[in-house]
Amino acid sequence: MHIRTNDTVEVIVGDDKGVRGKVLVIDREEGRLVVEGVNRVYKHVRRSQKNPQGGRLSKEMPVQISNVLLLCNKCGRGVRTGARLAKDGSKERFCRKCSSSLGQISPAKKKK
Ligand SMILES: [Zn+2]
Repeated sequence: MHIRTNDTVEVIVGDDKGVRGKVLVIDREEGRLVVEGVNRVYKHVRRSQKNPQGGRLSKEMPVQISNVLLLCNKCGRGVRTGARLAKDGSKERFCRKCSSSLGQISPAKKKK
């Protein structure tokens, strides 16, 4: 999976199926990521210095990377992605459905 922070992804399983959001954090070691508005849990907090209001705090919990798909703007939905070499030698992600580019993964290798 070639997902990076600030990508927009679509959740494909669970309670948040179909929900789209921005990737906030990626934990590659755990294979998890946090998506804005997805897998939100509410925590009730007492009034404290940090939270003078107290009340309900919402927090997104991580989801498995395999539970989300990168959103393809052209297809308008979450899609499987692949990696390929672009003409300039850089590596890019592409949509396996419409094969449009979904952005660069790594820059072109410099010729020595
Ligand atoms: Zn597409």
